Amino acid sequence: MREALHVIDNELVNLPYSATTDEVANLKKLAKKEIYQCPYCQAKLIVKHGEERGLYFSHQHSEACEESRIIDRAEKRYIKQIERESKLHTVLVDIILDELEIKSKINKEMYVSLGYREKNDWKEYPDIYVKLPMKELAISIITNVNPTDDSKLAQQIKKRHEYFLNKGVEPVWFIEKKEQAIEKEKNSIILWDAELSIASKTKEDTKWDILISNEIDDEDFFNYFNYPTTFTHDVDVKSLYYIFNTDEKIVVRVQRFLKDRIMKPFRAFLLNEGYEIPFADALAIEDGFMLSNSEIEEEYRKVFQDKINQKRDEKAEQQRHEEETRKKRLEQEEKERKRNTEEREMILNNLLQQNAIDKIRIELTYNELKRLLKEKISLTQKEQMELWTKFMPKIGLKNSNIVWEIVLNNNCKNFSDLKVHLEKMLL
Ligand SMILES: [Zn+2]
Repeated sequence: MREALHVIDNELVNLPYSATTDEVANLKKLAKKEIYQCPYCQAKLIVKHGEERGLYFSHQHSEACEESRIIDRAEKRYIKQIERESKLHTVLVDIILDELEIKSKINKEMYVSLGYREKNDWKEYPDIYVKLPMKELAISIITNVNPTDDSKLAQQIKKRHEYFLNKGVEPVWFIEKKEQAIEKEKNSIILWDAELSIASKTKEDTKWDILISNEIDDEDFFNYFNYPTTFTHDVDVKSLYYIFNTDEKIVVRVQRFLKDRIMKPFRAFLLNEGYEIPFADALAIEDGFMLSNSEIEEEYRKVFQDKINQKRDEKAEQQRHEEETRKKRLEQEEKERKRNTEEREMILNNLLQQNAIDKIRIELTYNELKRLLKEKISLTQKEQMELWTKFMPKIGLKNSNIVWEIVLNNNCKNFSDLKVHLEKMLL
């Protein structure tokens, strides 16, 4: 933990958490020369070093002034607040604070402080407080995000997030990067409740909103990306900023997604693989922290749009292909039907030429029988009706061949002739 400030020539300086024995001895000697003073009551300060608190300043005889007592109390509450965090949390806060202090030395319009120190009367503290000309920021780092206390943590974080907003301060969250649950082939990420609660809405997210809103009416939009959606709400792109330590460098991983499931499991549509940027770049100031690399974002959006266009072209091409195949099939069927009709016509004509038959090679339909009888025995409409209602139900429609055989074998000249034979057969 960073311990009390001291003032030397009106400059505020922090003590490091740990120091070598020599360094501690040296700092104590300097304190005795009365060069350190309390920024609140201007009393001379001494340097102390303990297991628990590390290196810190103290008023003489432990007679802390009111101001520094308030800060002390705030610090205790803050320590309780971050009890659940991993050891990395303190390391990250230290590094981020250093980074921001360097920036604030260059940029005089920027002011940086520890959250509990600046806002000691707040009920919830950001780790770091930043004041810019146009806005105030509450930077918080969350570590140890795990399934066991996910919902509880989500509740705490939501409450803190709301609290900062109510105080007119914009919350910026960084999450310790652990294993992420990504289904790569589905472009899907499963988020913790806590992660969903602190996802940011930045300028880049809004640019993605516009792109997606223009495309999402395409019923195949999610199919293009193989994403199993349950999407029923408005387009809402969000981003998460994972933070981790690599080779003495702090890196931020930018992960952008389209909010989807709002019930467990919290599946979201991953817009790209995400990318890493040096921490200093993430904290570049442009009306707040940049948090992203705008060139990479532009490129990702182009790739995203290209993919949609390509998939849509493929779909159109496939539809064209299917339409062509269907047409070809219909033509083929038409050809076949025509050939069948012609073939049958020929057979019927042959049947008409015959005076007796050995065997009819096809099964005559009733319509074909009608046609043959019309030609052979001049069957009238009335006779046809009689045949249909009186005889066919008994003979069976499937046996039209029999009727024709009777006509030929008995050389019937008219319907009366035929009737005689039919009646005889059905007796
Ligand atoms: Zn004091």
